[in-house]
Amino acid sequence: MSVESPLALFGGPKAVVDDDQSVFQWPIIDDTDERAILEVLHNRSMSGTDISRQFEEEFARWHAVKYALCHNNGTAALHGAMFGCEIGVGDEIIAPANTYWASFMPAFSLGATVVFADVDPETLTLDPAEVAARITDNTKAIVPVHSGGMPCDMDPLMELAQAHDLKVIEDVSHAHGGLYKGRMVGTIGDVGAMSIMSGKSLAAGEGGILITDDQRIYERALLFGHYARAGDITLPELTPYTQIGVPVGGYKYRMNQFSSAMARSQFAEYPQRMAEIQKAMNYFCDLLEEVPGVRGVRPAKDSGSTMGGWYAPGALYRPEELGGLPNTRFIEAVSAEGSHCGQGDGRCWHLHPALNDLDIYGHGQPTRLANAVRDVRQPRGSLPVTEGQAERSLRIPWFKRYSPQIIEQHAEAYRKVALHAADLL
Ligand SMILES: *Cc1c(COP(=O)(O)O)cnc(C)c1O
Repeated sequence: MSVESPLALFGGPKAVVDDDQSVFQWPIIDDTDERAILEVLHNRSMSGTDISRQFEEEFARWHAVKYALCHNNGTAALHGAMFGCEIGVGDEIIAPANTYWASFMPAFSLGATVVFADVDPETLTLDPAEVAARITDNTKAIVPVHSGGMPCDMDPLMELAQAHDLKVIEDVSHAHGGLYKGRMVGTIGDVGAMSIMSGKSLAAGEGGILITDDQRIYERALLFGHYARAGDITLPELTPYTQIGVPVGGYKYRMNQFSSAMARSQFAEYPQRMAEIQKAMNYFCDLLEEVPGVRGVRPAKDSGSTMGGWYAPGALYRPEELGGLPNTRFIEAVSAEGSHCGQGDGRCWHLHPALNDLDIYGHGQPTRLANAVRDVRQPRGSLPVTEGQAERSLRIPWFKRYSPQIIEQHAEAYRKVALHAADLL
């Protein structure tokens, strides 16, 4: 397709002629998934833990960590990880504001609060200098989120944690199997927690899992929400509370074994499928390098870092390279060409009323403040990169299959629109 042809938005031919949606379909389901789930059904073992324990063992081995613990969703895994790290009354956790709410919201029910730090404009993940500036005597933990698959810059974050005696809870929900300088994400901080719900790159229906090398974090997470596994708890400080078995959090976080059976069958194929996603997405991002104003968010090639299953992939959008073209107009034109394109993550949790005004537990003041020992609210303007992210980034197609011809057509859609930017102004 030549760039001389008019934009599809103006009646020209579409850049994407091969409308094969199977390259996007996820998760890939085959009869091993069916058999695994039917076996749980016929054994009536939905509420057991034998299959979940097998998955935990496999998942822990893959990460070379001592412990893994299944949860009924990623939110629960993060909640368990926070309790595991002893986050409690008056504590502050530092998280990005451009994430899914479960990265920080469970802290409220532990009596803690959240302070948001801005993200780096190139990686869209936590900016370590920003985190450093937000640390106080009340800070207890940092929650790096490997957003859109992009590994956070963990080295400086770990240095900060060490210097200030903080826990690090990695939210790996977008980056299963990703590497940071050759190390698996989720294994660098004190604990990794992640979602494995159907939309994520490792997809088990509904589910979550926590991984750690820290026995105390693992056993505290067991005590918090896994009453039926109280027998696994061995630390003397915890065993007095394990008789009969009560989840001290008051939550029941056991995974349904339909999910752990599917987690196992999906996981068996995951490394190969992830490799194919990486090949496809890297190819697409290589082609994007020819497109002015747009650049895929991914680590440098020789960094030893990778994007895992590349969940919710994004690109930086620089309107100044396109004569000031707003990305809403760019998106409209790329969509007309038959490709996928959307605005980047515009979440700004620091501005949300539930974090500023809402008294969730009847403290007589907003919970975010009631749980804090100082005013932790952050007005508009306090996180400029996060606040500009919707306009300065894009959601790009998430290819699951390496199909060069189709990938090239999608890249051509982006290139054609960028080269016609003047027509769109
Ligand atoms: C999906 C997600 C979660 C929560 O997982 P659920 O399984 O939906 O509870 C947590 N953090 C991030 C960043 C997510 O994207």
